[in-house]
Amino acid sequence: SPVIVWFRRDLRLADNAALSAAVETGRPVIALFIREAASASSMPQGAAQAWWLHHSLTALKERLQQAGGDLLLLSGPADDVLTQVAAEAGAETVYFNRCYERDERDRDIARALKQAGVAVQAFHGQLLSEPSAVRTGAGKPFRVFTPFWRALQALGEPREPIAAPEAIAGHSVSTASEKLEDWKLLPVSPNWAAPFADVWTPGEAGAHERLNIFLDQGLGNYKAGRDVPALEVTSRLSPHLAHGEISPAQAWHAANGLSNVDPAQITHFRRELAWRDFSYTLLVEFPELATRNWNPSFDDFQWTFDERQFRAWTKGQTGYPIVDAGMRQLWQEGYMHNRVRMITASFLIKDLMIDWRKGEEWFWDTLVDADPANNAASWQWVAGSGADASPFFRIFNPLLQGEKFDPDGHYVRKYLPELEKLDNKYIHRPFEAPEDVLQKAGIVLGETYAKPLVDHFEARDRALAAYKDLG
Ligand code: FAD
Repeated sequence: SPVIVWFRRDLRLADNAALSAAVETGRPVIALFIREAASASSMPQGAAQAWWLHHSLTALKERLQQAGGDLLLLSGPADDVLTQVAAEAGAETVYFNRCYERDERDRDIARALKQAGVAVQAFHGQLLSEPSAVRTGAGKPFRVFTPFWRALQALGEPREPIAAPEAIAGHSVSTASEKLEDWKLLPVSPNWAAPFADVWTPGEAGAHERLNIFLDQGLGNYKAGRDVPALEVTSRLSPHLAHGEISPAQAWHAANGLSNVDPAQITHFRRELAWRDFSYTLLVEFPELATRNWNPSFDDFQWTFDERQFRAWTKGQTGYPIVDAGMRQLWQEGYMHNRVRMITASFLIKDLMIDWRKGEEWFWDTLVDADPANNAASWQWVAGSGADASPFFRIFNPLLQGEKFDPDGHYVRKYLPELEKLDNKYIHRPFEAPEDVLQKAGIVLGETYAKPLVDHFEARDRALAAYKDLG
């Protein structure tokens, strides 16, 4: 009888433990992807990520077909679909890789399958290490990153990646696969995702291409360069990792044996990969990470909500160039540089005093790398409400951040062409520029570029006062 491999956030053939184990049984394989409706136990599909998923599933199907298999696409609650397919095909086992965002639901599914006489085998590979393996001396999950990282390193290197199976014996079922086009994952009119294809190649091959470019051109200057948004130094692997087109162990091991790269750079990159594991540790411990304050004292925080200001933030019209450039990059590419994510998030939470959850939702919908653990943990980190978070009173100054990390304004000019001709001296503070300087650059504040939504220093005092009220 055939074996079912249930694909989720692991849209790859190589280093896919569930797929390899299924192939090794020597039985035919039914590779299945289920489209589930959003429910209380799962997040809704973000729009930018839907674009990515469409292309990633197309790529996965092609790869499976090249290897002799195929990809079956079905919609419905996963437990129902899995039991139906198993019954129809006479499959006795379902294999999948753990993905941690809904452990509880996975256990329910395993129970339902067991009742239907179908066994479940779960495998590891989405993280460097299983969250249950990295524990404090007292056997508890870590809540602080640095000791977590030490403990993770003490476990030794993650397992060696498994090669992609060369041949997969497919198995057809009588239920016809749904058509990807019918899932309508791509935006139609307006096609806001049109520029994404210039920047991204979803799929396993695209992930490895990206990794190779990074090893070649980015890794050597990663430690210092990763904070400079105008430099394309970071790996940009995040959407590939979020969809599991590449495993973190593959990214980790790929940096081994690079004799021309300083080991300190490699360690720094691996440390960032470990942040992803850490976010998942938090999510497993606290599944409501995206919707509830980790630190409940923030439940009393007096957020304000001004719809006009929120919309200006989403559109990159706050009047603070580094914030606006970041929000425009997000809209154009479905991605934003990490340093600028911190600056834009801080601006929403502290300068506009809007609840971090509004920002988390916006990022969730617009990021191609939207990740249930990383997005939620990072927003809580900036808000100060999270575990091991940046304290609330550390408020990013968008002027100084811009001047420090984008001194020549290259990043700002790339995403805000309306400021292209402005002198470097004012590129991060156009509202301080004398009228003749603005005129020369063709800028009319309030018309061609926004006036500041708030005065940063007043806003800062207001946020600190609200924080003090928390007691
Ligand atoms: P690199 O610097 O090349 O890092 C390699 C990989 O390590 C990344 O792909 C990512 O998987 C992981 N990583 C790096 N930095 C972090 C971090 N701070 N926390 C957790 N993992 C990290 N990352 C997401 O993957 N999805 C999100 O939805 C997401 N939302 C964020 C929201 C906010 C407000 C902030 C401040 C950060 C968020 N991040 C998120 C973390 C980080 O910004 C991105 O992972 C990073 O910018 C991706 O670019 P890269 O792949 O070039 O990173």
